[in-house]
Amino acid sequence: MCKKMMIMVLLFLMIFPAYVQGNDGEKDIPYLKVCIAREVSEVKAEVPPGYILINQHNDEVLEGLEGEIIFVARSEGIKVKAFDESFEEVLTGPIRIERNENTDSLVKIKGTRYRGEIIISSKGSEDEKTLQVINHLEVESYLRGVVPREMPVSWYMEALKAQAVTARTYALRSLGRHRNEGYDLCCGQHCQVYGGADAEFDRSNEAVESTEGRVLTYQDQLAQTFYHATNGGHTEAPENVWSNSLPYLKSMPDPYDDPANEDILVHSRAEWGPLEFTRQDLEKRLESHGIDIGPLMDVKIREKAPSGRVIDLEFVGAEGSYNASREKSRTIFSYADEDGNNQPGLNSQMFDLETNSRVFIKTAEGKREASRLEGTYALTAEGKGRINEGNVHVKGAGGESFIIPAVPTSFMISGFGWGHGVGMSQNGAHNRAIAGYTYREIMDFYYPGTKVERWY
Ligand SMILES: [Zn+2]
Repeated sequence: MCKKMMIMVLLFLMIFPAYVQGNDGEKDIPYLKVCIAREVSEVKAEVPPGYILINQHNDEVLEGLEGEIIFVARSEGIKVKAFDESFEEVLTGPIRIERNENTDSLVKIKGTRYRGEIIISSKGSEDEKTLQVINHLEVESYLRGVVPREMPVSWYMEALKAQAVTARTYALRSLGRHRNEGYDLCCGQHCQVYGGADAEFDRSNEAVESTEGRVLTYQDQLAQTFYHATNGGHTEAPENVWSNSLPYLKSMPDPYDDPANEDILVHSRAEWGPLEFTRQDLEKRLESHGIDIGPLMDVKIREKAPSGRVIDLEFVGAEGSYNASREKSRTIFSYADEDGNNQPGLNSQMFDLETNSRVFIKTAEGKREASRLEGTYALTAEGKGRINEGNVHVKGAGGESFIIPAVPTSFMISGFGWGHGVGMSQNGAHNRAIAGYTYREIMDFYYPGTKVERWY
């Protein structure tokens, strides 16, 4: 090979390292760091025989430490104290707990067993130190603690395998997501729910093992494997939820997750509501998002995507209006309560809204729907008058009388689906597995144009 060509090949390999990786299944399993506790003042660990503690500050092994050990945040570092009082020292840390002999025993942190290593570090400012606990382990071990937390283990095996591949791809794509905090992934819903070794079950382990190293790719790159609980019968394109579109995430009907399809078996959490919100309740929610439009007069669905998901929800106030678009039409309903706990928004963007003042009005031009009567002109016994706030006596077409508020005081919302609807529906995957589809076929449907490939 001539020198020039060799340099070009070398340059190519440097620019496109992904090509060097290969998919021969002989690469080492990647490791990741999952945060399992943060901003805590104290952590209790149970260290079985065969493990050692190392002070990473100076690589010193803390001899003879075993059993129950308490770690406490101190301004000077981490106090490490054996429960039997055989050891007590304040160390700079981080402290690493690792296996140094062949044993099947696992370290327990706050009563939960974890595979791999544990790293305990001191964080925060001088006068307010806290501890952070990281679990450093192989991706495959991590997935054993994720799949059973993200999908019921009693579900069909092919659905569990699809979940394993989706979660593996998501984890590998998300490496470094929390880099600034010193780890890759958190163990909550923000990343993926991870429950350590105590979350494991044989069936979910089988799903992880039988798909080992397999990921979803698009044009040789890891795909964005969004998933959600149930889509209400129609998947969603990401541009109708967030902003960017992706060629393999499409909006399409999903008969295997359609609550109206009586031939499918499982409709887990497919329909919800009606939820009733008072006017004051909605005003409070808007306020918690920093939106000030004065007293709330009405809420209107302005636009829906072809799937039926709301993409423009208008809040009409006496002093202005606010349009919640795409995912915001759902998350705008969330708020922090008096105790600081976050109350969730709506289950999905696929919903309808009714008010207690919606009427059909007969006009000179025909029939028209009004969501509120306030501001309209009506013919009364005293002549033509403008309707303001308060209750209005309305005479129906059949001569019957109703009393309805001129401005809605109650809003009823009901909907379908749970989650954003983008990518794989877990419920749909289960129904497809029941119908005999393989996990590859399930993923082909939810991520059209992608491939299941061996990454390591
Ligand atoms: Zn996270």
